[in-house]
Amino acid sequence: MNAQPTASHFIDGAYLEDETGREIVCIFPATGETIATLHSATPAIIDKALASARRAQRQWARFTPVERGRVLRRAADIIRERNEELSQLETLDTGKPIQETRVADATSGAEALEYFGGLAATLTGETIPLGADLAYTLREPLGVCVGIGAWNYPTQIACWKAAPALACGNAMIFKPSELTPLCALKLAEIFVEAGAPAGLFNVVQGYGDVGAALATDPRTDKVSLTGSVPTGKKVYAAAAEGIRHVTMELGGKSPLIIFEDADIENAVSAAINANFYSTGQICSNGTRVFVHESIEDKFIARIAERTAKAIIGDPREDATQIGPLVSKSQHEKVLGYVEIGRSEGATLVFGGDIPKGLNAQGFFIEPTLFSGVTDAMRIAREEIFGPVLSVLTFKTEDEVLERANATEFGLAAGVFTKDIARAHRMVAALEAGTCWINTYNLTPVEMPFGGVKQSGVGRENARAAIEHYSQVKSVYVAMGDVEAPF
Ligand code: NDP
Repeated sequence: MNAQPTASHFIDGAYLEDETGREIVCIFPATGETIATLHSATPAIIDKALASARRAQRQWARFTPVERGRVLRRAADIIRERNEELSQLETLDTGKPIQETRVADATSGAEALEYFGGLAATLTGETIPLGADLAYTLREPLGVCVGIGAWNYPTQIACWKAAPALACGNAMIFKPSELTPLCALKLAEIFVEAGAPAGLFNVVQGYGDVGAALATDPRTDKVSLTGSVPTGKKVYAAAAEGIRHVTMELGGKSPLIIFEDADIENAVSAAINANFYSTGQICSNGTRVFVHESIEDKFIARIAERTAKAIIGDPREDATQIGPLVSKSQHEKVLGYVEIGRSEGATLVFGGDIPKGLNAQGFFIEPTLFSGVTDAMRIAREEIFGPVLSVLTFKTEDEVLERANATEFGLAAGVFTKDIARAHRMVAALEAGTCWINTYNLTPVEMPFGGVKQSGVGRENARAAIEHYSQVKSVYVAMGDVEAPF
């Protein structure tokens, strides 16, 4: 199997290599095979990326908004035409099942480009009458934006950052996670094909040090990170040194609350999606499943019954529903949390093992459910980022609300109930950036997405993202004479 790209980086409209950079070995998570070897960016590569992005940004800012929108929409069309090829690459890069990547990755990226491509021509300022005088505002780009991505959704993350950035007239340098370096390179090719100026979207590979170098360079105007809270703290602090704009999309430990009147089948479906989709590697997952004590047995019986039928296997197979985790270290981390759950006294209802009969070099783990979980346990407090669902029970609305909010995270939350007043009362009081009523983990581009508390700063998607990729210039226009005291 070979997914070797032409070169490691894509800068100024073309592939570029510098083999003196540290090696990045890209592994197919289902077999442990090496599928590509790349090199981390050297200072010379970083310098080229920044210089070309600055040049391209000035050129891009001269495009009319309609022209900018057209380029983004063309890029979306190309992505849709190549969805199969891009989905297969995403599956190799991440290990996510092809049945997921065909519908959730390149297509989600295309939607972001369509949405922001459509918005590009509507981004205007306002006029402010001031008696005889007037003021107006101009909505201007920030300049060069750096995007730093996590490994779970490499195409989607690159598009969710690039689409609003480019729509507002910025250039972007994107650094993928070193675990999934391949997909963003394809996006860079597509932007050029769609008519973007060379250098408008550059991809540089690297480890954390490359992200840090980009985040602190004086030529960088904004940093948008998708990653963990500890990395977010570092990148936020680094960006603050230069008073740079930031968007931080960080981790979570989100509550999914299921009341006694909920439709159980729908609640089970949501809990499955919220814990086992993408082998549990989703930031907004509802990993603390609070189930009303009166329905716990029924809920657990149904989720066990349905999960027993899940097809775990090679993610390239059409039938596979659960693939491996992304890497050896993530595999060890998640298996470690299963051990922690056991030793803390939670009841392992199903899963927790490496599934039998699959490639032993792959990073597979069974979908796992713990019951009898208490708020103090580490499996209920820490982000695991794997298919580990914790069931906690509750008695009253006030109690579950207080417990759901008792976390430093605030990315997402879900409520299942047929009582419409209770549903709205709950979401009003839940400390989370994104809430779902009677569903979970739907993130259409039309709806803002992001966290509160330590889960993040800023919003991606929807019109809200425009605020984070543009700045307002105020212009006062005097019509009369200038008065002065002397
Ligand atoms: P990390 O925080 O480890 O890394 C995120 C990115 O930051 C990687 O590209 C990483 O490079 C880079 N990086 C690491 N250190 C620095 C630094 N000092 N300066 C600049 N860049 C740096 O996250 P993971 O890749 O492990 O992804 C999992 C995390 O991402 C989870 O916590 C998850 O919740 C979160 N996430 C959040 C989402 C959201 O939208 N809120 C969506 C998806 C994931 P390298 O990989 O080379 O270390």
